Amino acid sequence: MTTPAPPEREPAHIVVVGGGPGGYEAALVAGSLGARVTVVERQGLGGAAVLTDVVPSKTLIATAEWMTIADRAPELGIRLTDEAAKRDLTVDLRAVNQRVLELAEAQSADIRGRLVREGIEIVSGTGRLDGKSRVVVEPEDGGEPRVLHADTVLLALGATPRILPTAVPDGERILTWTQMYNLDELPEKLIVVGSGVTGAEFAGAYNALGSDVVLVSSRDRVLPGEDEDAAELLEGVFRSRGMTVLSRTRAEAAVRTDDGVAVTLSDGRVVHGSHVLVAVGGVPNTEGVGLEEAGVTLTASGHVEVDKVSRTSARGVYAAGDCTGVLPLASVAAMQGRIAMQHALGDGVAPLRLGTVASNIFTAPEIATVGYSEDALKKQGSRYITTTLPLARNPRAKMLGIRDGFVKLFAHPEAGVVLGGVVVAPRAGEHIFPITLAVRHRLTVEDVAASFTIYPSLSGTTAEAARVLDARVQER
Ligand SMILES: Cc1cc2nc3c(=O)[nH]c(=O)nc-3n(C[C@H](O)[C@H](O)[C@H](O)COP(=O)(O)OP(=O)(O)OC[C@H]3O[C@@H](n4cnc5c(N)ncnc54)[C@H](O)[C@@H]3O)c2cc1C
Repeated sequence: MTTPAPPEREPAHIVVVGGGPGGYEAALVAGSLGARVTVVERQGLGGAAVLTDVVPSKTLIATAEWMTIADRAPELGIRLTDEAAKRDLTVDLRAVNQRVLELAEAQSADIRGRLVREGIEIVSGTGRLDGKSRVVVEPEDGGEPRVLHADTVLLALGATPRILPTAVPDGERILTWTQMYNLDELPEKLIVVGSGVTGAEFAGAYNALGSDVVLVSSRDRVLPGEDEDAAELLEGVFRSRGMTVLSRTRAEAAVRTDDGVAVTLSDGRVVHGSHVLVAVGGVPNTEGVGLEEAGVTLTASGHVEVDKVSRTSARGVYAAGDCTGVLPLASVAAMQGRIAMQHALGDGVAPLRLGTVASNIFTAPEIATVGYSEDALKKQGSRYITTTLPLARNPRAKMLGIRDGFVKLFAHPEAGVVLGGVVVAPRAGEHIFPITLAVRHRLTVEDVAASFTIYPSLSGTTAEAARVLDARVQER
């Protein structure tokens, strides 16, 4: 007699609310682990990351980078064919922004296609929790709401720009970063309020594209919280390129004038410009979607509280990405989403480790960091050795006409383990990778120093910094 096969179990149903990197990456993992997956998205697949934040800003910056490179051309012996007709390069912002938006749309369509191919259902509309295991979706066209029953819910709601009540955006002259791509003409004078990563990136890009830029910073220097030497170098570069940086002052209000905008500062000054970009951070999209009613605890700032495997306080409800406030990076959002699904579906899971996250600020030069910052090492009283080598000494940098930049490494004084690093250079986001590998795999400065680098290459400076620190470790 043959034993009857056990009844097949229904696959778990995962409902992901939000189709940004925190959501779509998780959906793919859940699908590959055998779950039935539904993604609810109100704006477009790829989320703000693809449609308004990462992809558009980095595409715009790619154009700005060409302008910065062109600035170095005369020094490298490049001349206009007709010197008499010499004219500066100009930017057709309408064409630039059209390319930006097309690229973002195409990327969003790619992600949608990938999810569909993997058998993931996509529901358009705004999702709201109705208890821990029901998501109600209101379609954008106002049709009948749809109720989804879930074994597990992942909230990947993202964030939207913070609006100052005294500087309400009008989409024409007073702008958030999501509205910058509607501009057809280069702002004559752009006032950027906020000198965090987003403010610094836009200020640098528009300065390179040809706008007169005023950057308003409430702190002593731009990029508060980032490596001090890197921020100082960047501020120097900004000023040397003609940008006005107003430090230790806040923008209190922005209003339209007849031909532009007027921004009132906390010290009483009024700055006039053609446009103002208000980049003072984001707020999580956690209001009015039934979170607290379902038992999901929010922090004072409105972010979803999560543990290291992305669990919220409500059983069966996970959260990932900017709505958690853990670290506002697409890569971290995606990692949190993957971890959530592995945990929910009983797969092997390693808790989130932020010590090895690499991040990059896309200014010119770029600022890339990984591992412990000097500030964190000092604050926690860790012993460390460090060296900073300027790129100006690097032969390849000289050939390329690069003067501004450095490589900084931190290592343990006895064990020589690489604890972190900072690279300030064009394309630093690429050059940080060997240091990321070293930090992730606990390599020593000796390991890094003993590895071949191309001659000549910018990465030669990373190996040289490792050699300097290795010599100090050996002396002890
Ligand atoms: C200008 C700018 C540049 C940036 N550049 C970089 C960069 O270069 N590299 C990097 O790593 N990070 C960058 N970031 C950060 C990055 O954009 C975020 O960390 C990332 O988008 C977070 O992903 P997410 O999935 O949490 O949210 P999002 O990408 O914001 O996606 C959330 C999605 O959820 C949808 N949603 C929200 N609520 C609901 C609901 N109730 N129902 C249905 N759908 C809903 C939203 O419409 C959105 O599409 C940048 C941010 C900004 C502002």
